[in-house]
Amino acid sequence: MDIIHLLPDSVANQIAAGEVVQRPASVVKELVENSIDAGAQHIQVVLKNVGKAVIQVIDDGKGMSPTDARMAFERHATSKISSARDLFSIHTLGFRGEALPSIASVAEVEIKTRQANEELGTCIFIAASEIKSQESVNTPQGTNIAVKNLFYNIPARRKFLKSDTTELRNITTEFLRVALTYPHVAFTLTNNGTTIYNLPASGLRQRIVNIFGKPINTKLININCETGLVNIRGFICSPDQARKTYGEQFFFVNNRFMKHQFFHKAVTEAYSGLINPDCIPSYFIYFTVDPSLIDVNIHPTKTEIKFQNESDFFQILMAGIKEALGKFNITPPLDFDTAGSPEFNPVQSEKDTAYVPRITYKTGYNPFNYTTGKITPEDSDFEKTTASPVHSKGKVPANWDILFDGLKEKEESVQTSIPGMSEPVNPVIPSTTCYFQLRGRYIVSPVQSGLMLIDQKRAHERILFEKYLEESDTHKMAGQKTLFPETLELSAPDFMLIGDLLPDLKHLGFELTASGKNSYAIQATPPDLSCNRAKEVLIELIEYYKNTEGNIKNKMQERIVSALAKAIAIDYNTSLTCEEMSEMTTRLFACKHHNFTADGKTIIHILKYEDVNSWFK
Ligand code: ADP
Ligand code: MG
Repeated sequence: MDIIHLLPDSVANQIAAGEVVQRPASVVKELVENSIDAGAQHIQVVLKNVGKAVIQVIDDGKGMSPTDARMAFERHATSKISSARDLFSIHTLGFRGEALPSIASVAEVEIKTRQANEELGTCIFIAASEIKSQESVNTPQGTNIAVKNLFYNIPARRKFLKSDTTELRNITTEFLRVALTYPHVAFTLTNNGTTIYNLPASGLRQRIVNIFGKPINTKLININCETGLVNIRGFICSPDQARKTYGEQFFFVNNRFMKHQFFHKAVTEAYSGLINPDCIPSYFIYFTVDPSLIDVNIHPTKTEIKFQNESDFFQILMAGIKEALGKFNITPPLDFDTAGSPEFNPVQSEKDTAYVPRITYKTGYNPFNYTTGKITPEDSDFEKTTASPVHSKGKVPANWDILFDGLKEKEESVQTSIPGMSEPVNPVIPSTTCYFQLRGRYIVSPVQSGLMLIDQKRAHERILFEKYLEESDTHKMAGQKTLFPETLELSAPDFMLIGDLLPDLKHLGFELTASGKNSYAIQATPPDLSCNRAKEVLIELIEYYKNTEGNIKNKMQERIVSALAKAIAIDYNTSLTCEEMSEMTTRLFACKHHNFTADGKTIIHILKYEDVNSWFK
C-alpha cells in the first residue's frame, strides 16, 4: 500500500509560515518590503493592538492586476525572479514568493489593489489560504493590504505572542530597518490611532534625525569610502554618543539590513581607545557591492549575510572609520598596544593625564559621601592577620586588618640600585599607600592571601545598588529639584516605554512632567545624581530596558535601581586617589554581597600568593 501523498497547499503554507511569519513584526517586514519592491513613494503602516488585531500596509506602488493579485497568494508565486541565474543578481527585497501565501495561511487577509492604467481595482478576501471573495472596487493606485487576527487558526501560536510592549518594539525594529534604508520614501507608523513615526521623504541624515531625535544631529560623522571592491557610506557617531548597552547599530548591504558580528568588530576596533570598553558606538553603515559577492539566499528570516573574502571588507571598513574619526580629530593620542610597555600605572602619575580621551567626566558629585558601613568578617574571603595595617591617611576601620596585609616588609625594604643602571629601581607603590590603579580600571592591593584586584566600576555599582535598594525599600527617596529643568527628547517608542516606568522612577526621586511632543521636563532627580547627568541616566535606563528581555514588571524596582547604580557608578579611566580607593574597598566589603554585581559580574579577583610564587620556581 502506498502511504506517501502531497500535503494540501494550506498545510504546506502553514509550515512555511512557521519560518516566515513568527510574529506581527514579521508581517510588517514582509508587507513593507513588498511595497518598496513595488516602487512605492508613500507607505503607511496602520496597527490595531500592536498588530495582534490588524496590520494594514497602504502603498502607492505599482499595484497588481486582478490575476496577479490572485496569483500572489499561490506558493512560489513571484514577479521578481524567473530562473536560478537570477538568484545571483537580486535587486529586490523579496524573491521567494513565500510571504503572502504564508501570511494568508495563518490570518485573514483583505487586499485592494489597482494598477495605474486600470480604472477599477480588485479586492480579494482570503482566510486560512482560501479565497472567499474577489470583486472589482474603486481604490487608489497601489496596494492596500490588511492582515487581521494573525494566528486566529493556530491558537498555540497566538498564545505565544508577547506583551504589547515587546511586540511593538519588534515591529518598530523591523520598520526602522526599512525606513533607514529608503529615506527618500515617506513612511508613517500608527498604533490604535496614535502616530509613532511620521517620516517625510528626506535625505539620510534628516531621516536619522527624524527617527532618533534632534540631539543626534551634531553627533553624526559622515563616512564615505570608495574602493574597487566595495563602496561604504553612511554615518558613524562621535565617541561620546556611545551607549553602555546596545544603541543604534545598523549595517545595510545593497539596501538590505544585515547583522554582521565580524564587521561589528571592525567598527569597535576602529573606536578602541576612544570609548569605554563597555560602550558600543552607534552607526548607520551602507555597503554597496557586486551582488555576486554576497549570499542572501539563506534562511528567509535570517539577517546574517555571507560575504566572500570577509577580511578584505573588514580592513576597508576599519580603515574607513578610522579615517572618518581622524578627520573629526578624535583619534587616541597614544597607541596602547605597544608591546613591552609597563602594565602598571602608578596612581596619579603623569601617564594618567595622557590616557584615553575621557568621554564621560567626573562631576562634582561625591560618591563616597555617606556613612561608613561595617565590615563583617564572615562575609570576607580574607584570612585574618595580626599585622598592623599601614594605610593612607583615610579613616581606618577597626577591623581593617582582616582585609589587609601589613606593608611593613615593603616599608622596611631599602631601595637598591641594580648594577649598571643609573636610576634606582622605584617601588611601584608609594610607601604611604597600599593601593594602586591598573589601567584606570582595577584597584590593586596586597592582601593576606595574595594580590587583590577590584573592578572599580563594578565595585561602585554594587555599593550604590545596595544603598539605593535599601533606601527605596524603606521610604520614597526625596528628589532634588532642578532649578532649570532639562528637556528629555525621545523617540515615540521610548516615550511610551518611559511612561511604564514613571511610578518607579518617581519612587527613586525622579520627577518628570510631559512637555510637548515625545518629551519630558526633568523637574527633580535622585539625591546622588547631579542634574546635568540626569538626562544621560534616563536615556541609559531606557536603553537598558529596551535590551532587557523577559518580564520587566517582575522586580521592576530592583532593575531600575541596578540601572541607576550602573549609570551613576564612576567610569573606567577615572583616576582615583588612595583615599578614594580605600574608601571604595571599605564600602564594598560593607555590602551584603561583594563578589558580584547585581547582574552577576565578577567584582573581585585575588591572585593567590602561592600561584605568584609558583611562577618564580
Ligand atoms: P516575493 O516578494 O518574494 O515575490 P510575496 O509573497 O511577498 O513574494 O509577493 C508575491 C508577489 O506579489 C510579488 O512578487 C509581487 O509581484 C506581488 N506583490 C506583493 N505585494 C505587492 C505590493 N504591495 N504591490 C505590488 N505587488 C505586490
Ligand atoms: Mg515579498
